[in-house]
Amino acid sequence: MMKLSVKLKNLLSRNLLVIATFLIALMAIFSTQVIAEENKPHWSYGGAANPTQWGEISPNFALCELGKNQSPININNAVEGTPIKIQFNYQPTPLLVVNNGHTVQVNYKSGSTIKLNAEEYELIQFHFHTPSEHTINNKASALEMHLVHRNAQNQLAVVGVMINKGANNPFIAQIWQHIPTLGKNNAVQNSTINAANLLPKNKDFFSYNGSLTTPPCSENVKWNVLIEPIQVAEKQIEAFQSLYQVNARPVQPVNARIVEFHGQ
Ligand SMILES: [Zn+2]
Repeated sequence: MMKLSVKLKNLLSRNLLVIATFLIALMAIFSTQVIAEENKPHWSYGGAANPTQWGEISPNFALCELGKNQSPININNAVEGTPIKIQFNYQPTPLLVVNNGHTVQVNYKSGSTIKLNAEEYELIQFHFHTPSEHTINNKASALEMHLVHRNAQNQLAVVGVMINKGANNPFIAQIWQHIPTLGKNNAVQNSTINAANLLPKNKDFFSYNGSLTTPPCSENVKWNVLIEPIQVAEKQIEAFQSLYQVNARPVQPVNARIVEFHGQ
């Protein structure tokens, strides 16, 4: 009886130690998460942290207010540019959908690229805005998709695709179907997606020198906005807008920039 209670005590204290260690580890993880959140300034599309305030939120966001080459813009008065093409070399990627609080994003594994002026950029992710951020002759589309690419020198090139109301889009359906809850990632088992299926047939495009359309609004981003829109069903627009009613930065001054048209 004596022996048993000693054993029991030992067992209990060992278990308590395990529990205590676990709790301490949990607290450590939690507190680093809190710190990480605190270090990330909050910005949004409405309320006190709306786009007109981004430049004030953090010194790191100063370009949002002071930059002279900001995106998006209204595209008009484009000049005829060299008749270059964007070479798309997109491969299927395992479907990984992220709901990050600013947009719905699909992350891309390495190996998919575009070639732009003989320069190769790798596709990192694509995501969506509503309504479209760019406007063409002052006309907005229901949504805009941004395919974000990076080259070996860490320069960014974004391809913008306008999305209008029309036929149901099965590739958009595949993404929408797997949107996780806010702040979560969803690595969908046995499911791949190819961004090539979300491009319009005609690849004529406008190009200009711009920025990220979200804080920190970094500049020297090569923008390439395809002229031909793709289509999604009204229901698919509504589904996105039920999560993100508006997540588009208003158009910014063009200033000294020239927008080029590249037709084929
Ligand atoms: Zn974007």
